[in-house]
Amino acid sequence: MRRDLWDAGFTALPKWTCPQCESGSLLTMPDFPRWEETEYSKEEQDHQDSEPDWTVERFVALMKCEVATCGEIVVVGGDRQAWMQDDYERNTQSWESILVCGYVRPAPNIIPISHNLPSECSKQLKKGFELYWVDKAAAANRLRIFVERLMDHFKVPTKGKGKKVKVHTLDLSERIDEFDTMKPGHKDALDALRHVGDYGSHQGEADAQALLDCFELLEDALAELIDQKKAMLAAKAQKLIQNKGKDNW
Ligand SMILES: [Zn+2]
Repeated sequence: MRRDLWDAGFTALPKWTCPQCESGSLLTMPDFPRWEETEYSKEEQDHQDSEPDWTVERFVALMKCEVATCGEIVVVGGDRQAWMQDDYERNTQSWESILVCGYVRPAPNIIPISHNLPSECSKQLKKGFELYWVDKAAAANRLRIFVERLMDHFKVPTKGKGKKVKVHTLDLSERIDEFDTMKPGHKDALDALRHVGDYGSHQGEADAQALLDCFELLEDALAELIDQKKAMLAAKAQKLIQNKGKDNW
């Protein structure tokens, strides 16, 4: 996962991968991004203490997929902010303008969505990508729901004894424990997702870096759980050994 694609602000919009065809890059269309300063901001420029970061500007941009047969259009909007750039080598500071995205729709995939992933799961993941720009806590909560749906997909029981004596409805933490007995090795990643989701739900905020960590953990876990990456690579290696290095299948 390239973290620089999911920064808080950009001097120029990045070439995200198209969420529709999942192969082409999104290119900013001519005459975009466009921005306007608010009238109250213009008025404040006359103030004697006014600094560039007092400026309030909103921007909008249309991006188009470079693949001619796809041509997906993505709309991006947010704030254009002044930001103090430090040049440590020259020991200077200068103001730069950055685009802080508050809305990207349809949202680019932060991690690839496998076609083997059940639609109930991919729906939550896609919502998570969209909410990432709008509300980090809501995105974290979607990841928590995603883990619930993933447990459903693997037919992890919803009732059992869990950590108690009596049979009861299992909470997500107990379902993850059950899952660990079925498919070991992913408990920590799933628990981390659950914690970030819980924190997002209760505190109403989630840290962008923690959220990106979650996506990264998920990418790794899904490659194993959904696409059996290691098993497929092992099978390919075996085939090459059998064919003495020739890639004829
Ligand atoms: Zn496309």
